[in-house]
Amino acid sequence: MSDKHVAMLPGSFDPPTNGHIDIIERSAALYDKLYVVVADNIGKSYLFSADERKAMLEDILKGYHNIEVVTYQGLVVEFARKQRVGVMIRGVRALADFGYEFELAMTNKQINPDLEVLFMPTSPEYFMLRSSGIKEMASFGADVSKLVPAVVAEQLKKRIKVIGNE
Ligand code: ADP
Repeated sequence: MSDKHVAMLPGSFDPPTNGHIDIIERSAALYDKLYVVVADNIGKSYLFSADERKAMLEDILKGYHNIEVVTYQGLVVEFARKQRVGVMIRGVRALADFGYEFELAMTNKQINPDLEVLFMPTSPEYFMLRSSGIKEMASFGADVSKLVPAVVAEQLKKRIKVIGNE
């Protein structure tokens, strides 16, 4: 049996945004333990490696004793089974997110029927934030420091070559 006091929040976090951190902090307040699961999918290409994304999240979340950041290759529902995680939380921004998330939840339920999936709506100030948008803005030299934690803004500056500035 899984433990319904233990939750996980999986995602790419490439890179983590203030929207992610908001959902993580609100989830951690509801459960005894929260795993933030950094997906490391072989088929996907990321700007930051799984270890880099994990390190940024650990730095940002170091004040929380009940949060553990892990990287995982493979299906996150299998991670849940292994760690006896009872609840998976997914943040939803808009109706478009919901359609996709709903289908995913149906599939995941077939693989791991014991895992409950909960959707948490974004805080209004973050509803337009997504990692792909952040990377695009940064590549055009836009200031993203109000949209991501300081450590992420710093890493983005180092990593992204600004278009038109070569
Ligand atoms: P994305 O690349 O779309 O930002 P991730 O796979 O990294 O998404 O997202 C991890 C989790 O965080 C997902 O549940 C996603 O819906 C959620 N999330 C991402 N951005 C936000 C936001 N601005 N507000 C609420 N939830 C978010």
